[in-house]
Amino acid sequence: MPRPFEFCPRCATPLVERVPEGDDRARRACPACRFVHYDNPTPVAAMIVEHEGAVILARNAQWPARMFSLITGFVEAGELPHETAVRETAEELGLAARDPQLVGIYGFAPLNQLLIAYHVVAEGEVTLGAELAEYKRIPIEKLRPWPIGPGPAVADWLASRAKAG
Ligand SMILES: [Zn+2]
Repeated sequence: MPRPFEFCPRCATPLVERVPEGDDRARRACPACRFVHYDNPTPVAAMIVEHEGAVILARNAQWPARMFSLITGFVEAGELPHETAVRETAEELGLAARDPQLVGIYGFAPLNQLLIAYHVVAEGEVTLGAELAEYKRIPIEKLRPWPIGPGPAVADWLASRAKAG
C-alpha cells in the first residue's frame, strides 16, 4: 500500500483530512495554503510482450521468488501510454516492440494505479534491465491469467484471440 502524504508538498504544513470547498468527499488538504492532495491513480503501462510465439513474464528484483507478471512502467510526463509500452519493452527486456495494441484499462486499487494494457509483438534478443531479476517464456497456449494486477488484461487478450480464431 502506498503511504498517504503527511505534509504539504508546497509548504510542509501537516495535511488534514477535510472536504474542500465545492467538493463532495474528504481529501488530504493543507490548512495553510490551498493545496489539496486528490490522490489520483498513477497511469502505468502493462505489456503483454509476444516474442517468438511466447509471452514473456518477468520477476521484479523486489518480488518474492516465483512471482512473475507482465512488465510494466510508469507513464512519463509528456509521454502517451503506447509510447511507454515501446520504451519500457526496450528498457526492461531489450526488445524492439512494434505496433502496440490497446487491450484495455484496469484499476489496481492496492497500488492506486490505472493499468493501461497493451499487446506488443517484440523482436530482438532478451536482455534484462536492472529492475528485473529473471524472466520466463510462456507459450501462448499455456498462458493462464491470474486474478490481480494486470492478470485480467491477460484474460481479455486471450479471450479476444480465441474469438478471432
Ligand atoms: Zn501547504
